[in-house]
Amino acid sequence: MTTPRTRNPRNAPLPVTTWIARKRDGGALDDDAIRALIAGAATGRVPDYQLAALLMAIVWRGLTPRELGTWLDAMVASGDRMRLGRIAGVKVDKHSTGGVGDKISLCLAPLVAACGVPVPMMSGRALGHTGGTLDKLESIPGFRTALEPRAFARVLAKTGLVLAGQSARLAPADRILYALRDATATVESIPLIASSILSKKIAEGTDALLMDVKVGRGAFLPTKAQARALARTIVELGRRAGLRVVALLTAMDQPIGQAIGNACELAEAIDVLRGGGPPDTRALTVRLGAEMLILGQRARALGDGARQIEAAIGSGAGLERLRACVRLQGGDVRVIDEPRRLPRARHETVIEAKHGGFLTTLDAGALGRAATRLGAGRARKEDAVDPGAGILLHAKEGDVVQRGAPLATVRYGQRARFEAVRALVEGSFTVGATRGRGRLLILERID
Ligand code: URA
Repeated sequence: MTTPRTRNPRNAPLPVTTWIARKRDGGALDDDAIRALIAGAATGRVPDYQLAALLMAIVWRGLTPRELGTWLDAMVASGDRMRLGRIAGVKVDKHSTGGVGDKISLCLAPLVAACGVPVPMMSGRALGHTGGTLDKLESIPGFRTALEPRAFARVLAKTGLVLAGQSARLAPADRILYALRDATATVESIPLIASSILSKKIAEGTDALLMDVKVGRGAFLPTKAQARALARTIVELGRRAGLRVVALLTAMDQPIGQAIGNACELAEAIDVLRGGGPPDTRALTVRLGAEMLILGQRARALGDGARQIEAAIGSGAGLERLRACVRLQGGDVRVIDEPRRLPRARHETVIEAKHGGFLTTLDAGALGRAATRLGAGRARKEDAVDPGAGILLHAKEGDVVQRGAPLATVRYGQRARFEAVRALVEGSFTVGATRGRGRLLILERID
């Protein structure tokens, strides 16, 4: 059987159903077919319903390494590629596969930039039950995340840091496929996640990438074996495309830190930049920062990198970098010194422990779904988020809690929304008789 070729005149129909059937039945697509499908996704020549069927076939059947390489190249080629060569230094970006309470980028990027490594950070919006860095940044009044390529490069050149979203011309095929995947339960696929992330990073012009691959109850890929396979795929696929990639597998069973929600997560990140913040948020920031300094050739080893990041926290240099970036991107810099200016939902309710003991489980997946339904994320892609909605945790796994002690404060704009998630929030805390074993934050490193 040979795959139909795609040397049709421009407007002749493409044999898309034949290609979908081939993938459905476990076959491989040839390179021309893949290029035509991805170009067709970006231009609208291939309709959404056919793309959705193809994506579901890929979720089940996967892509071979050759197919995945071509798929990624075609995604990058679907739009412009930024050239950041005129900006001195090894540019390093960081990307997380998606977590709950994962505000690390917000404190990490300014710290790494303050240590001399330029950080062109191109982030996404909330996906499924996980939060998005862009939504968190947009809780700063006036902050612009939509920057055209020239503005993106200008902010990076001036501050060593830019925090923005994917512009319309960068990897447009990914924007179409990402939105379709979110709406068709086709996010959970290693080749689709790997190519989605890398297409944006390659088009953005970064030299190196630190991948934070989340594992556990609150991650898209709950098992370590799946997360490891994704990390290896991203590292190898990135290397093939000329990008140096290091991946860390990090725990996502309980949320990171104490805040889940857009404005409250930003406030926690600012706390870290001021030398405070919860221990796990800070520890993850320091470790990821050290890795980025090594990738950016500013540190020789993890210890050296960690010391530089700690120093940038202590001196306030990271906070100043964030302030400069917020100013250049049109945001109200007063929130940096006065986080209480950030939006806050009108109502709040405290959830209390029904009995005493050790907090044995704090279910990140359930809390992420609850925060999304409170308005911190979206049910449909056109929905607006409520920047002030969220959940503040008062206990973490392993803590002793007394009967009646506060476990969480839920912030919400509408009581009906809170009532709809009350049981989900209450059920995400398990209090038992034993402390349980402490969990590692960093599970594995792959390079
Ligand atoms: N982040 C992305 O950019 N794409 C995915 O598919 C998943 C997480």
